[in-house]
Amino acid sequence: MLSVSGKNLIGYSVSGEGNQFFYGVNPRTGDKLPVPFHCATEGEIQKALKLAEEASFKFRHWTPQRRKLLLDALAKNLEAHSEVLMGSFVEESGLPRERATQELARSCYQLRSYGEAILSGLVLDAVIESGDSNRIPSPKPELRRVNLAIGPVVVFGASNFPFAYSTIGGDVASAFAAGCPVIVKAHPMHPQTSSLCAAVISETLQSLDCPEGVFSHLLSNAHDLGQRLVLAPEVKAVGFTGSIRGGRTLMDLAASRKEPIPVYAEMGSVNPVVVTAMALEAKGPEIAEKLAASVALNAGQFCTSPGLLIVEENQKLEEFVQYLSLIMSQYPEQCMLHSGIFEPYKNQVEQHAEELDIRVGGVRQNNFITPALHEITGSNFLKDVRFSHEVFGSYLLIVRCASELEMTCVLSSLEGQLTGSVFCQPNEHLAWWDLLQAKVGRLIVNGVPTGVEVTYAQQHGGPYPSSSMPASSAVGGAAVRRFMRPVVFQNCPDSLLPEALKDANPLGILRFVNGSYTHEPC
Ligand code: NAP
Repeated sequence: MLSVSGKNLIGYSVSGEGNQFFYGVNPRTGDKLPVPFHCATEGEIQKALKLAEEASFKFRHWTPQRRKLLLDALAKNLEAHSEVLMGSFVEESGLPRERATQELARSCYQLRSYGEAILSGLVLDAVIESGDSNRIPSPKPELRRVNLAIGPVVVFGASNFPFAYSTIGGDVASAFAAGCPVIVKAHPMHPQTSSLCAAVISETLQSLDCPEGVFSHLLSNAHDLGQRLVLAPEVKAVGFTGSIRGGRTLMDLAASRKEPIPVYAEMGSVNPVVVTAMALEAKGPEIAEKLAASVALNAGQFCTSPGLLIVEENQKLEEFVQYLSLIMSQYPEQCMLHSGIFEPYKNQVEQHAEELDIRVGGVRQNNFITPALHEITGSNFLKDVRFSHEVFGSYLLIVRCASELEMTCVLSSLEGQLTGSVFCQPNEHLAWWDLLQAKVGRLIVNGVPTGVEVTYAQQHGGPYPSSSMPASSAVGGAAVRRFMRPVVFQNCPDSLLPEALKDANPLGILRFVNGSYTHEPC
């Protein structure tokens, strides 16, 4: 039976050296939860870093098959403890049980599928090009390139995904698949759920004789711990999901190090949705229903929640807005994750309400909310940059544009986004389509941005500030690559090559050999 010790996990040891504590909170009642959590001390941080560095040299040599076994075992063990994990998730997050079930299933799927991504060879990206000693004017060297583990990774748990982007989430799954040890900085708003997940991870790693230090779990409710970890020379990469302010601070810290390291930060986005006049005419009510459901989903606490609806004035628009208002005003109250999310949401919605036309006022009290819907003209939107900033929670701002040109200007004024959605009719010409592509990581046609499929083809990450690394994805098999770096071996004998590059292809992976993809030996 899993239990919550309230202590840090340093390698395989439970440790509570510190005398500073914090508590979890039930966001529905505001009640403090009973277990005190020990903030990690400098000594504990040092131990976790040293163990991670040592483990790194062993873990990176685990074969893809062995890493896949580990990821599968983690998923199985999480499923075996699902009742206790989900009970804690609901208690600490205020999210419904149904969401806990979906998120745990998603986390297990991520673990298994990232193992498959490594086995398939897609993530290793092995490329072999033969040499030519007779080439004129100079001989061509033989080159063999493959992605290898980058080293110890620090992962910041996200408050809005207590499973899928926290202690057992996508960043940790990616790092393990890549062969990297992980130090998790647990999110202080769900320490109990994180600690339970950490116990499952530790139990699983020990059962598979994993080197001690492949995983540590550190607790704190202050910024110092995360900052200390990002600055530690042992750490080679960072995974983060949260606010732009937090992500940017960590990016700047990482860049200030003697050896700067990559920070894969997934941050804010207003996820613009554009609806054409033809689409409104053809299916206005259907679009309104889809959009309202997406805005309201889990109190809008998703990085992909739609925050901006951009439309050109047309005959059907007012009817559409009235119907959208009606549906949005009928959603029941939902609990927000914690006061650190509720208070900024309340303040931003109330500030906007003083200056904008209110279509749905919404409720905001004691951590509970209902969706809010405001309206602004395109020309006023263009005059005030505040209205283009993310309001994290169920909030939609309709931008009513006077012309296609104004719509283009509104889209052009936006910063980088995770997603952009378009409701249109087949074969419509969209003058701003290229512009939208330049702003986002994922384009959705006739659909809403919430719901991010975990698949090889996914791209979750757009231009800054939606993410710090627009060339990488935080979701799907490609996410594993974030914690690897390419190394090329020039004129290297077979005996010194990593398995993925040996002539016989002992891993049986797909490789790009002399210009063609093949599973064959070379
Ligand atoms: P957050 O404040 O960015 O915190 C995320 C993690 O980063 C926490 O572990 C936090 O730890 C740490 N952190 C934050 N700022 C830091 C700093 N300056 N130095 C070192 N560590 C730092 O996000 P949150 O707590 O999840 O929610 C707060 C706001 O973030 C929300 O209102 C929302 O606007 C935004 N948010 C956005 C997304 C998204 O996906 N776009 C998701 C969640 C939240 P400590 O607090 O313990 O230091």
